[in-house]
Amino acid sequence: MAHFTVIGLGRFGIAASMELIYLGHTVTGVDRDAKIAEKYVDDFTQVIICDSTDENALKELDLINSEAVLVAIGEDMESSLLCILALKKLGVKEIWVKASSRAHHTIVSKLGVARIIHPEEEMGVRVAQALNYPMVNDYLSIGHGLYVVEIHIKSHLDGQSLGDVLSASKGRVEAVMIKREQETFLQLKHDFVFQTHDVLLLSGTRTSLKSLVPRLV
Ligand code: ATP
Repeated sequence: MAHFTVIGLGRFGIAASMELIYLGHTVTGVDRDAKIAEKYVDDFTQVIICDSTDENALKELDLINSEAVLVAIGEDMESSLLCILALKKLGVKEIWVKASSRAHHTIVSKLGVARIIHPEEEMGVRVAQALNYPMVNDYLSIGHGLYVVEIHIKSHLDGQSLGDVLSASKGRVEAVMIKREQETFLQLKHDFVFQTHDVLLLSGTRTSLKSLVPRLV
């Protein structure tokens, strides 16, 4: 469990915070709008009403104990930039920023933040991937051209072994994990037999996964 600070409680900031809390972390939420802050006071570990461009106000937050600070102010670029500068000045190392435009991204990238997020563009890419492979419930890029995809096993694969399933791939595909209800299976052998509703995590290159995944639907 870690502690995070989320600055800006718009739709993006709230969604990120709620997921962090759901994942078992504690979150301090910050917004200058008292009405918004009051609305979420029961959901967060702590909600602070302050202008995040004010360095003195930020000093009052427990930033040093935050694993990362997420600046989720999109529209008001000036606020976002001033807030990042103040966080830098206070020695915050792990700063993640939501960027709302190319100009915003360009300036933020010069400030040396850990990660710049473009929710609309990143989501657009994910939706296109999902439309391309509707059978793949989720996917994750793990770098170096490798991906992890989640596949829900349907009835036509019931009784087939992992070896049979993987043999259809042109290229290397590894089975990372299989989840069956509450149970997880790791270090999988090729004689593992699938049941309907198993959830299979596969890793491989885009090309090798593309050769295999359509056969699993
Ligand atoms: P959404 O995530 O809803 O798309 P958005 O990109 O439109 O949000 P904004 O509405 O600009 O982003 O900001 C999100 C939140 O950040 C708002 O609740 C706003 O009150 C808050 N906010 C903006 N500027 C500051 C600031 N200087 N200090 C603290 N909170 C701020």
